[in-house]
Formats: sequence, C-alpha cells, structure tokens
Amino acid sequence: MSSESTILNTPVPPQTSAPVATVPPIWQVTIGVMALQGDFDAHEKALAALPGVSVKRVRTVADLDSVDGLILPGGESTTMAKLLLRFELMEPLKKRLNAGMPAFGTCAGLILLSEDILNRPEQPTIGVLSCTVDRNAFGRQVDSFETDLAFPLPDEPAAMVRAVFIRAPYVVQARGEAQVLATYDNRIVAVQQNNILGIAFHPELTGDLRVHSYFVNLVRHSTEKR
Ligand code: GLN
Repeated sequence: MSSESTILNTPVPPQTSAPVATVPPIWQVTIGVMALQGDFDAHEKALAALPGVSVKRVRTVADLDSVDGLILPGGESTTMAKLLLRFELMEPLKKRLNAGMPAFGTCAGLILLSEDILNRPEQPTIGVLSCTVDRNAFGRQVDSFETDLAFPLPDEPAAMVRAVFIRAPYVVQARGEAQVLATYDNRIVAVQQNNILGIAFHPELTGDLRVHSYFVNLVRHSTEKR
C-alpha cells in the first residue's frame, strides 16, 4: 500500500459535539515560596498539589517580581530576617506587600510579617501585620504539639484543621485591621489583615491543603496594583 493511499484511507474521526465544560476554568496563579531558610520544600509540595498553581522559589528580586503571592515558611525568623536584608529583598518585599501582594506566613513567617516582637525590639520584621508576637511562646515543656483547631473557612465556617505547632509563636496583640481567625487555649494563633495571612502553626506538614487553598484564592482575587 502506497503512503498516499494510507493517508486517504485514514478513517475520519466521527463528528461529535465539543465536550461541555462542567467546571469553570481555573485562573492560573504563580505562588512564590521564600526559600532562604526553613521548611520551604514542604510548602512547595502542598502548593504543587493544588490545581491552577505554579510554584516558584523566591531568592532574588527577579524571582519576587515573577510571583502573584508569597509564602513565608517556618524556620528561624532571626536568620530569615538577616538573609532578607543581606539579599536586599526586605525593601522590595515591603513595597510589594504595601501595594497589596498577598502573603501567607507560617510560624517564623508570621513573626516576620508582624509589626513587632515582644521583648525583641532589635529583631527586624517586615511589619505588614498590625500585631505583636511572642516568639517560642508556648513554653519549653510543650515546644511542639499537635491539635485540632477551629479554623473558619469561607465555604466551611465550622472547619477543624490539624495544627502542628513547633516552637511556635502566638500573637499577644492584634490591632487595627488585623482580624483574629483562630485561637488555641485563648491565645491568638491565626490572623488576617486584608491579603496578609499569618498563622502560628504548620499546615504544610499535615497533608490538609485547605489553608493553602484559602490563600491561593486570596491570590486569585487579589487586586494588587503593579
Ligand atoms: N521559633 C522560631 C522563631 O522564633 C519559629 C519556629 C518555626 O517556624 N517552627 O523564629
């Protein structure tokens, strides 16, 4: 059989109507994970499991420019603050956040986002959450623990999330526009101020993606002026 007749004999696929879209298209966003220190890889894995999300490690100003929202992971807030200054990321980051870029800080990330740290006025912070945090505030005997925490989500107001606390801070005062989202034992462990979310625990370690998904939706609806 000649190649021509092979082509001519190729059956024409039956005409069917185009599949009807049953789900709305997902608006693709790029979420950065600050990767200077700490457990950024666990956040990357959590984000990679969510539809419509591209994940980008942020280590330079060029990286920061390419993202729609940023996660600041857990780790050591003193080290991260030093590295933000050394890599000249602190000022560009403040500028993006003040312009409305959404950010999500977990544990050390919450400390970095807060306005001030109890008894540590010398430790630099980004200062976009109107809060005072206390570092390592749950005390030595309970350095790390897990609990089920009431964490209201827009489509699930009675949500309980598994919360892992590792040498965690808590918020001793939330002021102004900072809204309290969750408390544990009468201590504030999650706050939100417009597009900035700060939580004292580690949702990236539990396989429960609902808090990440909540943040990604904040990013999808962000109106940052750039
Ligand atoms: N104790 C750390 C700090 O103060 C935070 C711990 C964490 O991120 N798991 O920076």
